[in-house]
Amino acid sequence: MAAAPACHTDRVKDSFPLGRIAGVKVGLNWSVLVIAAYLVFALATSIFPSTNPGLGEGTRIVMGIVAAALFLGSILLHEIGHAVQAKRDGMTIDGITLWVFGGVARFVGMFPGAGAEFRIAIAGPLVSLALGLGFSGIALVPGIPEPVDAVAAWLAYINIALLVFNMLPALPMDGGRVLRSAIWARTKDFGRATRIAGGLGRFLAMGLVALGAVIAIGLGSAISGIWLALIGWFILRASEGETRAAAITAKFSGLTVRDVMVADPVTTTATTTLDEIAAFTRWTGAYTTYPVLDGDMAVGLFPIGVLRGLPREVWETTPVSRVMVPVEHVSVSHPDEPLQDAVGRLQAFALHRGLVLEDGRLAGLLSMSDVVRLVQGGRPRDAAAGPGPA
Ligand SMILES: [Zn+2]
Repeated sequence: MAAAPACHTDRVKDSFPLGRIAGVKVGLNWSVLVIAAYLVFALATSIFPSTNPGLGEGTRIVMGIVAAALFLGSILLHEIGHAVQAKRDGMTIDGITLWVFGGVARFVGMFPGAGAEFRIAIAGPLVSLALGLGFSGIALVPGIPEPVDAVAAWLAYINIALLVFNMLPALPMDGGRVLRSAIWARTKDFGRATRIAGGLGRFLAMGLVALGAVIAIGLGSAISGIWLALIGWFILRASEGETRAAAITAKFSGLTVRDVMVADPVTTTATTTLDEIAAFTRWTGAYTTYPVLDGDMAVGLFPIGVLRGLPREVWETTPVSRVMVPVEHVSVSHPDEPLQDAVGRLQAFALHRGLVLEDGRLAGLLSMSDVVRLVQGGRPRDAAAGPGPA
């Protein structure tokens, strides 16, 4: 049975929130229940019968449940190790989720530096090491009951196995992060460090897929083989995601909001009626979002899609100000702000468009689609300048 490998990859949804541990939001994805049930089954019917043949079936089932629960607890503690160190290094943690391939700690933003990435990456394996040693200690206590001894021995083995697997020097494994931080520290080149560690990740992933195929087809052990291949596929996806994210970071480096924003967007005013703006948009066609001005000041954003939810009868009498997204609920950035920071904030807003303000005055409109276009290699769309419907 393969253990859970990778940490902190892309989005895995919390199905069941468990509250907070050490100030970090913790939850379970539904898929972890599948693996927990399989673990209990494998422990009770195959692993414990072979290590401790004398025990009764009821005892083995209880042992299986206890061991599976403590195993999930061990993975959680491993992730909390990462999360606590990340907080110490000033990073924001969105939460930890346990799912079918183990634990995911969701970090917000970039690692602040190579040293921080190293400390955060190594903290989880250190927790696994401590747990492995702790459970070994329990198993070695003379005279403890056989079921306790067997559960502790298996937990010691599985935590050390988890440690070894996680320390493989390939992204997105913890060992891959340690390797990347070392190359990053030496070369000062985050992109290159990521390409090397990510390349090793793809190599490892393909090796696991191949090994899984050999085990499933050649040795006739279908579940183990498929499981290994699935882990390989998951690592492949994650390592490609890491490499892509690093390439995007490289494209953002040195750019400010001013370089990507539409500098002179078509605007509307707070008192314009919905009828007027609908007519203007039909006439010109192109604009989906208008910054809303009240005199000189930007007071909100008006997404044209809002009209679809409102009956035609009220368009004539409703001003934009009543249905716009007010400036307090819009992502606001400064033209000289680093693009990476502004985009990180913009992603949190459903609109995917934000106002660029300088002293409260409108300097531009930042749009996620322009950012995406930049990342894909094009230049930002030329701003169609000029006054809008007034
Ligand atoms: Zn980890």
